[in-house]
Amino acid sequence: MRNGFFSDKQTTRPERVFLRLPFTQRQKNSIKTPQEAENPPQRKETFLSSKNNIDNKFRVGGLNTGLRDKCGIFAIYDKGGDVARISFFGLYSLQHRGQEGAGICSSDGKSLHLEKAMGLVAEIFSEKKLKRLPGHAAIGHNRYSTAGSSVLKNVQPFLANFALGSIAVAHNGNLVNADPVRAELEANGAIFQSSSDSEVILHLIARSRKEDPYERIIDALQHMRGAFSLLFLREDELIAVRDPYGVRPLALGKLDDSFVVGSETCAFDLINATYIRDIEPGEMVIINKDGVRSIPALKSPRLAHCVFEFIYFSRPDSYIYNHTGVNTIRNNFGRQLAKDSPVDADIVIPVPDSGVPAAIGYAAESGIPFDFGLIRNHYVGRTFIEPRQSIRHFGVKIKLNPIRDLLDNKRVIVVDDSIVRGTTSKKIVKMIREVGGAKEVHMRISSPPTIGPCFYGIDTPTRQELIASTHMVEEIRKYITADSLAYMDIDGLRSIIPHPENFCTACFDNKYPIKFHRDKTSQMELALSTN
Ligand code: SF4
Repeated sequence: MRNGFFSDKQTTRPERVFLRLPFTQRQKNSIKTPQEAENPPQRKETFLSSKNNIDNKFRVGGLNTGLRDKCGIFAIYDKGGDVARISFFGLYSLQHRGQEGAGICSSDGKSLHLEKAMGLVAEIFSEKKLKRLPGHAAIGHNRYSTAGSSVLKNVQPFLANFALGSIAVAHNGNLVNADPVRAELEANGAIFQSSSDSEVILHLIARSRKEDPYERIIDALQHMRGAFSLLFLREDELIAVRDPYGVRPLALGKLDDSFVVGSETCAFDLINATYIRDIEPGEMVIINKDGVRSIPALKSPRLAHCVFEFIYFSRPDSYIYNHTGVNTIRNNFGRQLAKDSPVDADIVIPVPDSGVPAAIGYAAESGIPFDFGLIRNHYVGRTFIEPRQSIRHFGVKIKLNPIRDLLDNKRVIVVDDSIVRGTTSKKIVKMIREVGGAKEVHMRISSPPTIGPCFYGIDTPTRQELIASTHMVEEIRKYITADSLAYMDIDGLRSIIPHPENFCTACFDNKYPIKFHRDKTSQMELALSTN
């Protein structure tokens, strides 16, 4: 999907990656160098909120969104391995979850070593840097943020010393009560190094009176509400914890005799690790020289997996939420959409990349031929060069271009995963019609109308910026100038995902499963009242 905040993964091939996996049997059959990787990392652009009054600035792709903080985390405990190198490849596979900065923290049993910087994983880590990360265990983090908070001090892992030694943390998710907890900590003398909510957790661990390190972590997390898939590294162990709602995915894998943990299983494929199971909601998994231990750490009032991981966030080659294939789900969304919203047409095309599986499903179900009618420039990246005034408003054309041979004089169904502000959809429809020569353009969206912002790890535009929160489908159709527009019905969505009662669908139904702090609630009510 290519508009606004939930949008715009772009596949890129970082140019210089010379790192090699350690030469062990397990890698002999695996990818030797990133250049040989079959699945180059996808990359999400940095978009600038319209609130910043910088719409249409030509920055990193030229489109705007408010999406942020969809991070990727990875960890390994391996007594004899090259943990920094494996972590590098884990993060490399999870690049689509965050491109602002990345870091790896390793432990050699005596102390922790940290390397982090702004930029892409392949740009940050050199052989020299990896050599500065010795040891038997490591955690890593890919960060996504808005331009405003995109600074090195917010790049994770965060590392701190406390009464029981050193501890590093990598966090995916968002803590909905971080602000008041932080304010209280600051009032009591705590000094923060970053503006990230994740640092609050370290302060709470340091201040806990519990003697046992695991109890300290549990004690700290019992004060926090929201979404957190967490990795902790201590001198002698790795600890993974997932919030009791299980909002963001977190998987446990095995690599020979070592264990790995990652946001998505695509990270395991690259390093030849096997997906064992998920870290369960509310579970703490401790990995050290004695093996793997599980503690039921936090009670789960209900489950609330993020359904948008299926729609857009996760890579289609990943398996999340108890071995569910993302590609299959997306394909089924497309099939359902074809059943619910058929239309006579000559060709089905996706908005690449995340619209592809749903478009394939739509085409298969409808019997209408599928093709790639829009070509994506996978190399759109970090350009700050302004176009000439005469071509200043080329917007989406910088990334997508239609194939006229396929679309000319055709009735075209274009499938995307969502519409946020509607501005990009409008440009796509216009482009298919004017540049591609289509005689009809029918838009099909493989998710229900997005009417609510996310407070659990995806920083979204305000409610009033979401076109579906203020407009009916027919009004949106007119705005984007499509001949027809149809969304996936929420019941259709629920019929496809396994155990839908265990999912958060707040973007589509405003039913937020985790209570907010009253400031957040006020924000939400304010947003609602302005509709
Ligand atoms: S509000 Fe939407 S994006 Fe956020 S966790 Fe729920 S389903 Fe996911």
